[in-house]
Amino acid sequence: MRSKISVSGIVQGVGFRPFIYRIAVKNNLTGYARNMGDGTVEIEVEGRNESIEKFIEDLHSEKPKFSRIDTFNRQDFNEEKGYSKFVILRSEHKERESASLIPPDLGICDDCARELFDPKDRRFGYHFITCTNCGPRFTIIEKYPYDKKNTSMRDFSLCKACAHEYENPLDRRFHAETIACKICGPSLALYDKNGVPIVGDPISNTANLIDLGKVVAIKGIGGFHIALSAYIDESIARLRKWKHREQKPFAVMAKDLNTVRGFAEVKEEEEELLSSAARPIVLLKLKKESRLSKMVSPGLHNIGVMLPYSGVHLLLFSRSKTDVYIMTSGNLPSEPIVAEEKEAFKKFSDFVDFYLIHNRRILHRCDDSVIRRVDDGFYFIRRSRGYTPEPLNLEGVKDTIGLGAEQNVAGCVVSSGRAYLTQYIGDIENLETMESYRHALTRILKLSASKPMAVAHDLHPTFNTTLYAQELSKEAGIPSFPIQHHHAHIASVMAENELEQSIGIALDGYGYGTDKNAWGGEVLFCDREKMIRIGHLEEQPYLGGDLAARYPARMVLAILHKSGYDNKWTSENLTKFPYGAEEVKILLKKLKLRDYILTSSTGRILDAISTLLDVCSTRTYEGEPAMKLESFALNAKGTFKIDPVIEKDTVKTTTLIEEIFLQLGKTSPAELAYAGEEYLARGISELAVIKAKEYGVRDISISGGVFYNEHISRTIRNVVESNKLRLYKHKYAPPGDGCISLGQAYIVGKWVMK
Ligand SMILES: [Zn+2]
Ligand SMILES: [Zn+2]
Repeated sequence: MRSKISVSGIVQGVGFRPFIYRIAVKNNLTGYARNMGDGTVEIEVEGRNESIEKFIEDLHSEKPKFSRIDTFNRQDFNEEKGYSKFVILRSEHKERESASLIPPDLGICDDCARELFDPKDRRFGYHFITCTNCGPRFTIIEKYPYDKKNTSMRDFSLCKACAHEYENPLDRRFHAETIACKICGPSLALYDKNGVPIVGDPISNTANLIDLGKVVAIKGIGGFHIALSAYIDESIARLRKWKHREQKPFAVMAKDLNTVRGFAEVKEEEEELLSSAARPIVLLKLKKESRLSKMVSPGLHNIGVMLPYSGVHLLLFSRSKTDVYIMTSGNLPSEPIVAEEKEAFKKFSDFVDFYLIHNRRILHRCDDSVIRRVDDGFYFIRRSRGYTPEPLNLEGVKDTIGLGAEQNVAGCVVSSGRAYLTQYIGDIENLETMESYRHALTRILKLSASKPMAVAHDLHPTFNTTLYAQELSKEAGIPSFPIQHHHAHIASVMAENELEQSIGIALDGYGYGTDKNAWGGEVLFCDREKMIRIGHLEEQPYLGGDLAARYPARMVLAILHKSGYDNKWTSENLTKFPYGAEEVKILLKKLKLRDYILTSSTGRILDAISTLLDVCSTRTYEGEPAMKLESFALNAKGTFKIDPVIEKDTVKTTTLIEEIFLQLGKTSPAELAYAGEEYLARGISELAVIKAKEYGVRDISISGGVFYNEHISRTIRNVVESNKLRLYKHKYAPPGDGCISLGQAYIVGKWVMK
């Protein structure tokens, strides 16, 4: 008997064909396997019936760890072709419409890590050691099929020994497209800031320099890292000054799990995540006795931690006296991560002392992913390296593009019922980031072979992504659709959980509302036809728009002004206004003239509490006052409570801010911080519960950056579940604005384009 089989999913670049070879030989079958240009693997096997059945059983039950089978087609024939053995054929060279998936980049596997430190191994000490189970994938692939010549590994031709392993079906590196060794593979070199090469072993030299407090730019898998010791205050202070990053936390890389346990609390599930093939940055709770510099994550109770994920990382730690490095993305403020050496020399010259550079091209830049445990699950803060481009299955959704909003953007491309999020792009506020976005989106469009029928974008009329949508729409002759920000938030949760109808709670900093005001504390009713805003936080004057986000004292002033408490507060807090009394005077005039738009943002109220309690009065990075408030509130026992006031469709926030103001000096600030978070969480979720009952809806979806707050998330879940309603959250996309593009594409691809 003969069977012809076609498999799609993640089946290229994960050791799938060698695996097929092994199980075919094991079951005494002949035939072939090959990668097809559409991303599938085609298999033909010949032999006894039972052997073929056993082969197929093995195929499903023993498939390689990182593979994923989405479709499996089998045709049986009675006549045989008389194959004499089982072979792996050359990949089909034709590029075709894609049915399969490129695997994400995989962190170094245990076998390779062992060989790296085995003096008897051919790759002993070779920093670019990889195999079919590990190594870069997405960041080096240009097109299908996943074959060496379609990746940036094509710049290196195999030496005899590597070629032998590559051809040997019994070798772990059989058809490993990233196969390389000291003789034939990519090499490393260390340069000083003027581009002069440093003699000696680049890894040992780099390790020494970092021990001495130097700052080294290291070219990695998806781009550059800026690396330095996490123990030396002066080096960190220097970097902060140069990067104009006074307060924003830096992520660290620790030598191993044991080292992590020394400075952070890490639960079993977090250990698993840290050591998974994706090797994301995981936010962990800092231990009080941590010896890391306080300047790594100032004012926060947690720290972003990752483990080594390449040979270079492992070798560095093996030769360094420092067991924790700061490893922050190599970029200038609000620019994309740098992936190319010339650019690195140009952009980092002010703050980097040395450069550790390899000569393999990075084709897709890709930041490290960031994940945080919140309440009873994990949330992506940034979904990127190790996860991109793995798609979400979205059946019945037409090919569309979603472009996201402006902050933390990742684009979304739907192709044949699968939604692909691009890697994390960042805040699209300048040309560099916009260019990087175009590049990333074009690549995903190509790799996914999407034929978009429409493009969806944010309702905000002047976002760069809105302009980009208009351009794409014109170019491709397809319609474009504006989608309200919080509608997109909730729709993305609905997409991930396959909901047709839901009450949504969307809590974040800012989204352009259908009334042009600044929304961000919303209760929405969403179904396939419509979105209705059925509740929200009280609207407050948003004095000077973005300036009120930067200086939350403006929010406090506007709110306390209603009751006349503002005089007392501002006179004691003039320094919280950059221009002091003059500024306050102007703001009061604006209030009198009603010269402002309104905001129902949750973020702005958390910021206001943060500044009222002297926790943080200037936002130097996104979410800073609210994040520091969360850390600060952890010192509370929860003994003080303020009952939420709900009037009709509105949760009053004036009451909350006044109450906190009146309690200053009477109740401990930490208790007030905790009570403030609790008020907002209870207020908005109790309102949502009332509305759910009114609308006869049982499913509540939650989304928005505020849900990274553990206390708020937990409180809302408790309120929803104690009312016997079901709570739905993000599993695939981040709750922050990284999910917007998915929601946009879903609304248009599923509900608009019929
Ligand atoms: Zn490996
Ligand atoms: Zn070699």
